[in-house]
Amino acid sequence: MPDHGDIKVDIAIIGGGMAGLTAACGLAHYGLEVAVIDAASPPDLTHEAYDGRCSAIAFASVEMFRALDIWSPLEETAQPIHEIRVSDGASPLFLHFDEADVGDQPLGQMVENRHLRQALFFRAGQFQNLHQIAPARPLSISRTDHQAEIVLSNGQHLAARLIIAADGRNSSLRAEAGILTPQWRYDQAGIVASIDHELPHCGIAHERFLPDGPFAILPLKGNRSSLVWTVRADCAEAIMALSARGFEAEVQKRVGDFLGKVSIAGPRWSYPLGLHMAERIIDRRLCLIGDAAHGIHPIAGQGLNMGLRDIAALIEVLVEAARRGEDIGSPFVLERYQRWRRTDNVTLAVVTDALNRLFSNDIAPIRQARDLGLGLVNKMPFLKRFFISHARGTVGHLPRLLKGQAV
Ligand SMILES: Cc1cc2nc3c(=O)[nH]c(=O)nc-3n(C[C@H](O)[C@H](O)[C@H](O)COP(=O)(O)OP(=O)(O)OC[C@H]3O[C@@H](n4cnc5c(N)ncnc54)[C@H](O)[C@@H]3O)c2cc1C
Repeated sequence: MPDHGDIKVDIAIIGGGMAGLTAACGLAHYGLEVAVIDAASPPDLTHEAYDGRCSAIAFASVEMFRALDIWSPLEETAQPIHEIRVSDGASPLFLHFDEADVGDQPLGQMVENRHLRQALFFRAGQFQNLHQIAPARPLSISRTDHQAEIVLSNGQHLAARLIIAADGRNSSLRAEAGILTPQWRYDQAGIVASIDHELPHCGIAHERFLPDGPFAILPLKGNRSSLVWTVRADCAEAIMALSARGFEAEVQKRVGDFLGKVSIAGPRWSYPLGLHMAERIIDRRLCLIGDAAHGIHPIAGQGLNMGLRDIAALIEVLVEAARRGEDIGSPFVLERYQRWRRTDNVTLAVVTDALNRLFSNDIAPIRQARDLGLGLVNKMPFLKRFFISHARGTVGHLPRLLKGQAV
């Protein structure tokens, strides 16, 4: 490699979205030399117009952010989720999850994606051993048994022992590695908007199953909520084209009157919905995290949380390997990461897909069966605790960071 502009690091992360930046902060926190490269510049990534979404961050993921000193700037803007209420259309039966059922900690926290990115940039800026390179993208990558080399569009050359692909759902690194990725589109789009409302939400998240798909009302700080409205793909364009008043009326109809009068706060966005799952998440000196590895329906608000679980496991595997003097890019080390994540990722993809199929229809016998199911779960404390633990992200063989412990 030429000398000019060379950077030698332990790990090069391609993609500085929420997954890539979290991984970068976590690995730098444990002393590894890291570079994170993003095609967009930081001001774009933190601008509301770039991503209007809010994320439900599960309790365990918040524990990781706290353990990595990322959470403190979010303390003021994040809204704790105290309860979750799930209902099926007009059915009076609803499933009720309460933080009091499992202790005294919130089930999770709602954050605006742009705020989370700001907190991540702030934390990333505190490390001497974390190089942020943006805007730039890889022009060429070579991965041998000994190291990986990357030539960037800004002329810089990177050498690393491992590359982490965090470049999102259409990952070019995944494609370049020839990793097969089964995927399909749902015939649905997720329309996202924020609302102001007259009455307080009391930290309660609502998930309503309407015939076209779920309608989520998620509490934000103050008398504000974030909506994720799943609609049929062929209706999305017409809904996006509604006048401000027309859109507000449609939203009020679906929210009902428990929040008083609602008004739309800011723009609306539409996201195509789909599922993809990489057949493997490792290759020679390469591993995948976040949406580069998998993407699921937002029905349970788990996509990013799934990526954060990848990151917690990967950090633990890599940091322990580095401490033992192992080569962190070797197949033996990467295989530990893949083994750890496989079951959880596949299970969540299957469960969210099944939930979406079960609830996004109005076929009478199916509706009756699922209402019966909701009622039963609600009456069985151990089943309720099981679902709450999933929502909080506290099930399975958890990496230490997700328990709020140091690696
Ligand atoms: C409507 C909706 C609601 C959702 N709600 C929730 C929720 O409540 N809770 C939850 O857990 N999840 C939720 N999700 C899922 C969550 O938003 C995603 O899983 C998450 O944003 C993925 O983050 P990421 O960093 O992996 O990918 P991305 O956010 O796609 O980031 C990829 C980054 O890589 C960069 N990049 C791409 N290509 C290159 C390249 N060649 N070179 C350099 N950089 C590159 C991009 O600029 C970008 O910054 C939701 C999803 C949708 C659609």
